[in-house]
Parts: sequence; C-alpha cells; structure tokens
Amino acid sequence: MNSLPKHRLNTLVSKIKVDTADKFLEELLNLDVMDVPALERFIRRFRHLLPAPGPNRAMNPNLETGVLNWQARLRAAWRQPTPLGREVLLLGIIASHLASPEDQAHPDAYAAVLMRALHLVGRMRICKRKDCQTPYYIWSPKRRNYCSDVCAREAQRAFKLNWWRKDGPEWQRKRRAKAKRLKKSQGKRKGGK
Ligand SMILES: [Zn+2]
Repeated sequence: MNSLPKHRLNTLVSKIKVDTADKFLEELLNLDVMDVPALERFIRRFRHLLPAPGPNRAMNPNLETGVLNWQARLRAAWRQPTPLGREVLLLGIIASHLASPEDQAHPDAYAAVLMRALHLVGRMRICKRKDCQTPYYIWSPKRRNYCSDVCAREAQRAFKLNWWRKDGPEWQRKRRAKAKRLKKSQGKRKGGK
C-alpha cells in the first residue's frame, strides 16, 4: 500500500469534507437498493464519491449493480464484531479497488472515502433497535446505542411496553395492596399521594 501516490491523494482528500464522507458511508450502507427513487436520489447526490472507472479498474456494468456490490462489501466489513476484523476487510476492499499500479496512480474519491472508513473502525455500529430501517451508523457521544433519537425513544417505549405486559399486572396488584395498607395505617392523618 505504500506505493500510493501521496500528493495526488492529498489533493483529492482536501476536496472531500470528512462530514460528507461519513454521511456518504452511512447513506450507502443503509440504502434500500430496491427502492429505485431512493437509489436515484443517492446516485445524484453522491456520484462524485462513487468509484470512478480507473485505467485497470474492473467496473460493474451499471451504477445500480455497482452500488449493490459496494454496499455488500462495506456492510460485511461494518458487521465484523471487532475493529480489527473491520480493518482487515476494509483493507481487502482498498486493495481490490487500487489493485493495479495504474489505479494506484489515479486514486479516486472512493479511495479517499475508504481511507476515511479505516479511521472509523472503532466507531462502526449497528443500531440496537430490532426493526430499525437504517441500522448502520457511526458512533458518537450523542448516538451511543441507537442510530437516532427516534430509535432510542422507540426502543425505550418498546422496552416499557414489554415490561408492562410482562410485569405490569403484578406491579399493579402490589401497588394497590400498598395503597390500601397506607390508607389503613395513615388513618385520619393527611393523605399523601
Ligand atoms: Zn436505528
């Protein structure tokens, strides 16, 4: 990998905002490729970051198939249980993306995105909400266990509901019994809540 031409890649990298690269990664990972309008929106918005044909780079016959393949490989890396596992798979993706010296001499924006992804291996997360539609996300202090506030709230609600179904009747029974006892013991004293 040390044959990467640093000056060219640096020029390229200076044009790509880290936030945009992160957004791109999350969108690519979570994209429902069967949702054609969503796929078209994605391609319109991020075409400049998608793999560009290189001198020797084997490209997919069309962008749609390409997106599906790139997504599948990134998802496999993201889903590795350890940062090292993610790094190893990512390095494999980078190696095949920049397989030939010619491709290495002409790194594209996607190569830069993959380099960025290497820095994220410790923060690649899957949302803990079971039915989350966009489960791939990058950890941040604001997003610890869930991809979004919505998922965090929903999971909390589901947890409470579950608890209520399971333990609710028993809890209610105990609460009533306690209230009864309190009422009795308080007698004529001022009643609390
Ligand atoms: Zn989620």
